[in-house]
Amino acid sequence: MNGLETTQIQCPYCWETFETVVDCSVVEQQYVEDCYVCCQPIVFQVTSDGEQITELRISAENQ
Ligand SMILES: [Zn+2]
Repeated sequence: MNGLETTQIQCPYCWETFETVVDCSVVEQQYVEDCYVCCQPIVFQVTSDGEQITELRISAENQ
């Protein structure tokens, strides 16, 4: 267990699904990562229990 979890998300812009790695050692975090497919900024809001993701929200940056 290294605190990293791979999860599949769906881009709010192009609706492609892709895998991304989330650092679960941070209990609550929000960050922006560009879509691997269309390169637009996706806002990640992640809640974890320290080891696993408990909640993951994806949203477009300019809504
Ligand atoms: Zn995309």
